[in-house]
Amino acid sequence: MPITPGRWIAPTSDYRPDRYYRYRELTDLLHRWTQEYPGLLAIESIGTSYEGRAIWALTLTDRASGAPETKPAYFVDANIHADEVTGVATVLWLLHHVLSGAGHDVAIDRLLRETTIYLVPAVNVDAMDLGLAEDQEFYRSSRRPFPKDERQDGLVESDVDGDGTIVTMRLKDPAGPWAISSHDPRIMRQRRPDELEGDFYFLLPEGEIRNWDGATIPLAPELYGLDANRNFPADWAPFWVQHGAGRYPLSEPETKALADFLFAHPNIHGSQHLHTFSGCILRPPTNYPTSDMPALDQAIFTSIGAMGEEETGYPCIGIYDDFAYDRKQAMKGGLLDWVYEQLGIIPFSTELWSLAAKAGIEVTDFIGFFKNRSDAVDAAMLKCLDETVGGEGFRAWTPFDHPQLGPVEIGGWRRTFTWTNPPGDLLEEVTAPNARFILRAAQTGPRLAIRDIAVEPLGDDLFRVSLTVHNDGFLPTHGSAMAKQAGIAEPVKASIALADGGSLVSGEPVLDLGHLEGRANVVGTLSWNDVFPVKNRARASWIVRQAAGSTVTVSAATPKAGIATADIALEG
Ligand SMILES: [Zn+2]
Repeated sequence: MPITPGRWIAPTSDYRPDRYYRYRELTDLLHRWTQEYPGLLAIESIGTSYEGRAIWALTLTDRASGAPETKPAYFVDANIHADEVTGVATVLWLLHHVLSGAGHDVAIDRLLRETTIYLVPAVNVDAMDLGLAEDQEFYRSSRRPFPKDERQDGLVESDVDGDGTIVTMRLKDPAGPWAISSHDPRIMRQRRPDELEGDFYFLLPEGEIRNWDGATIPLAPELYGLDANRNFPADWAPFWVQHGAGRYPLSEPETKALADFLFAHPNIHGSQHLHTFSGCILRPPTNYPTSDMPALDQAIFTSIGAMGEEETGYPCIGIYDDFAYDRKQAMKGGLLDWVYEQLGIIPFSTELWSLAAKAGIEVTDFIGFFKNRSDAVDAAMLKCLDETVGGEGFRAWTPFDHPQLGPVEIGGWRRTFTWTNPPGDLLEEVTAPNARFILRAAQTGPRLAIRDIAVEPLGDDLFRVSLTVHNDGFLPTHGSAMAKQAGIAEPVKASIALADGGSLVSGEPVLDLGHLEGRANVVGTLSWNDVFPVKNRARASWIVRQAAGSTVTVSAATPKAGIATADIALEG
């Protein structure tokens, strides 16, 4: 079967939904879009990667309707794990969809008018770029060696047969724990405990053994052992407790840039952090059961997650409940927990793409699937690749005379564009529905409106100015319950700016209106006859001394909801 690693990589920066982009082409494409749509899209560098590449952030909103920071905002990042490039493609699909729909799609125009979306299309740009350039050894996140600076002894992945890919070596041996599957001779299955007749194999990564003693074949610890998604200051632990954690929280330029950007944009109420693979939408918490989360947040995650299930067909599941490798040792230092617990954001992390689902296999135990699936399942997935992309992504077993091990066969899955990411031909099936989920979730924020403005002349250039501030949004003005509980959610403030010569006679220039509920507050609550109290609004008033005919400006603001303003003419 053919294997052509470069076929899915875009040769230029022209946008194609069925291609992956290396750093240079990605950078050119993003800059060209900002030049084509200057009123809608802006780009900035939020930091420099370990190897010195700019990490790009985009701001997508219609600037004619207000500055980005005055609107409720949604945040998306991708590629914190370097080889999970489907997320990058999802961001590109979203941008292309929104930019090309602007001006003739009323839903997109409304989104751009009312909402800001911040996007960091690729976090770990160094390893992403190298991973797409040629088949290199596996990079989880960064090109920084960690925890040791030097290569350690053992089997080190490399392209020993020089065909441009790193796949698997099978080594025939009477003690081998693997045998050839009867479903498909390309697939290996576990040897049965009492199986004595036949050919048996060891399976090893393609590579060479550093300082080999000629007997055992240990795998060398990975040189690039950082996991940027264990480097955030939420329940962080050092690398000997949490694999990949980094030297200290936010020790990496990429994670620091991301954290600084999130801190600098308090209007972000929700986020999505794109990964691969499994075909599921993950929600916090990671280290305790969902049932221990505040009830309001459970309702919010369920309601927004249901839109994701509807768009993508992926189930939305709690990490601790249904996606834990080991509940006794919950993952530490994750971005999702940090933004939920410490920034009060409602985050989701989608594991994009599932080759198993594409092959029609239903997976309910996502973690167990990695180790417990049968060879029939693997054969079905390979058949799916045969039928959809002519078997690309699987290298036929080919004899090779290994310089250390002697005769072996080299072949097997080329993981990057089979398991980890879809082949380019199948990419848009994954990116389009997931981008649609992001666009729907982006519009769930709190949204302030000023209504019922009244001006009452009291004589002698005195006016009572009153108004009602409404939250028209789904989320309450504090965003998550966690944000309120942690005390990091600023209440709604109403303020008045007088014209020249005016003075405030009664009322503070800035009034604290507390928090206003959103529609999320009634999700899942009990009621009789579906009657709910109205708690989404508050009244503000001032008495001002100001010449009749002048104009005052009132505004209402809270970080996660942005700012609403109104000019009020004082008529005598
Ligand atoms: Zn990941």
